[in-house]
Amino acid sequence: MKVKVAILGCSGRMGRNLIQAAIEHKSIELVGGSVRKGSSFENFDLGEIAGIGAIGNKTTTDYQTLLAADVLIDFTSIEATLEHIQWCKQHNKALVIGTTGFSDQQVETIKAAGEHIPLVLAPNTSVGVNLLFKLLEITAKAIGDYTDIEIFEAHHRFKKDAPSGTAVKMGQVIADTLGRDLNKVAVYGREGITGERDSSTIGFATVRAGDIVGEHTAYFADIGERLELTHKASSRMTFALGAMRAAFWLSGAPAGYYDMQDVLGLKD
Ligand code: NAD
Repeated sequence: MKVKVAILGCSGRMGRNLIQAAIEHKSIELVGGSVRKGSSFENFDLGEIAGIGAIGNKTTTDYQTLLAADVLIDFTSIEATLEHIQWCKQHNKALVIGTTGFSDQQVETIKAAGEHIPLVLAPNTSVGVNLLFKLLEITAKAIGDYTDIEIFEAHHRFKKDAPSGTAVKMGQVIADTLGRDLNKVAVYGREGITGERDSSTIGFATVRAGDIVGEHTAYFADIGERLELTHKASSRMTFALGAMRAAFWLSGAPAGYYDMQDVLGLKD
């Protein structure tokens, strides 16, 4: 049986890719999609929004029409996602959250929702990036205590948050592995007379330019050698396909707060 999925924010950059990925996925049935109130894409055919031809299913701002879905997929905005979580709790729907930029407090709210419904919070739904998280854990364990650790990320000019949720998660994975508190050791950009590098810090550098889909590199640098672990996304379809994988996995899961490591079976 196919998993019934609805896409929230389906006229956005990710929304369009999510529609295409849902239509092409053999185990998923796309049952609806929302746009924000007042959007010029209200009542548009979902297939036409994705540029793949009409499918006879229209966008809505009325969430009651999405009740047929087993799983909702949300790549919208922080405010919208926090509202969507409440709706999913009320209607007992599973939720895949791809939206990024939540504060620690907002993440606590999302975790608490996981006591009532199954949800995946995934600042990056790419399978490659989630494998990168695992490789960072292995690398940090082996050499993190004596190398300088820096994280670089680059995205398109329209991205609203920085550093990216993925870069922060990379830092979190490394800090957790090394028993450091990321809030204390993170250095977000440098300017002026900064002094010598403090070896316990984890540095972040950000580029925003053109149409870069998403690039992330972690540097583990020692004297004489450095290891760089890099992921480059060349199309948003990679995130959309990962989100479908999460939706399919979540449809069989009990209430809980999950991440892509759970979805991909990468947890020890
Ligand atoms: P976007 O601005 O192109 O799309 C967001 C869409 O959400 C817009 O169409 C907007 O109208 C819609 N929206 C806002 N409020 C809404 C509401 N209440 N109901 C329905 N729709 C609503 O942005 P984007 O590039 O598609 O990114 C969206 C989010 O996903 C961002 O937070 C981004 O950082 C994140 N993102 C995550 C991943 C990942 O792998 N998890 C990948 C890419 C982007």
